[in-house]
Amino acid sequence: MSDFSIAEAVHNAFENHAIVDIHTHLYPASMGELYLAGPDELLTYHYLKAECSRMLPEGVAVDTFNNMPTTEQADMIWQQLFVGNSSPISEAQLGIVTVMNRLGLNPRAKNLSEFRAFHKSKTPEEYTDMVFENAGVASVYMTNDPLDATEGPMWQQGIDIDSRFKAVLRLDSALMNWPAPADKLRAMGYNVEDCLSDKTFAELRRYLTDWVQKMDARYMAISLPPDFAYPSEDSITQMMGNVVYPTAHELQIPSAMMIGVTRQVNPLLKDGGDSLGKWDIANLERIARDWPDVNFLITLLSRENQHELCVTGRKFPNVHPFGCWWFLNNPSIIREITAERLELLGTSFVPQHSDARILDQLLYKWTHSIGVIAPVFIDKYESLCAAGWPLTPADIQRDIATMFGGGKLLD
Ligand SMILES: [Zn+2]
Repeated sequence: MSDFSIAEAVHNAFENHAIVDIHTHLYPASMGELYLAGPDELLTYHYLKAECSRMLPEGVAVDTFNNMPTTEQADMIWQQLFVGNSSPISEAQLGIVTVMNRLGLNPRAKNLSEFRAFHKSKTPEEYTDMVFENAGVASVYMTNDPLDATEGPMWQQGIDIDSRFKAVLRLDSALMNWPAPADKLRAMGYNVEDCLSDKTFAELRRYLTDWVQKMDARYMAISLPPDFAYPSEDSITQMMGNVVYPTAHELQIPSAMMIGVTRQVNPLLKDGGDSLGKWDIANLERIARDWPDVNFLITLLSRENQHELCVTGRKFPNVHPFGCWWFLNNPSIIREITAERLELLGTSFVPQHSDARILDQLLYKWTHSIGVIAPVFIDKYESLCAAGWPLTPADIQRDIATMFGGGKLLD
């Protein structure tokens, strides 16, 4: 038995340490249209659009709904999912209720006017400060793509970035579906060829190196389908082995792989139309074995992959599991994954990231996650005490500060 309340110590630790959120799609206000916040963006996020498309009013087709202007869509989502004849009980819907409560707004309002007025009353900078403070978040990692038509020119021209936003070089648009990206890369001065030649690989490595340095990127990230195989003659595998892993090794930054997305199983749902598949984890064993000096941040989308990812983490110190991604970001699944990671990996993983795309989402994602994760930690610390370990509140503070501060790899 401990001579202090473990539950209280765990809750204090979460309260005393601001979160470092290692994967988001958030951007500072200085990045203009990439900065997304407020009720209309929040309500029309693809999670809720996909849920509303199951509950549309009679006579409104999915396609018609998807092509409505944002404010009309937000109004319809509010009406169908929150004001209508069912309780907003899904995780995404519950999230909106949490956000509104944290902002002191009435979640049973008949329309969005109060929320819209509240959002409009603050500048983007004020809104950002308010959300970070309210959510207990110290800093967030962005998803940065130099080939993006909006974002690329901002970096080219030089941009002031709020120091709470850290850069991450996103690789998908430059490496997937080769040679589709070749023209864009050549336009930026990288002399890649349409074939996967040594010259192409060398120029792509130069692109990655230049942009990691220009952005001060903390890691390089890519999202991959469940049929990603290593080794393989597929162009994306060739890119990973000849471009990404050697560059990560040379620059001494992690290579993050988010694996398991199947794109557009239902194109009608647009952004909401992606699904998932299980990956063969033997691929990760081969990657980790071939590249022992590269640190891999790994998150897998299929629940069925989670236990074996922990086991692979035990075999390879360069494999770093992180977060409960996308369809896993639900309380019942977070509870299970966090427990099995603590049991198999101790404290050597990053328990969660928000994946937030709309600033306000930080207000519910972390509250909900910590609400589920804290009891798992309490349970494990109680077992540790019961086994005879003289645990102190300082031990708990240290563990939580490290694991939710980006982990050992990124702090
Ligand atoms: Zn993401």
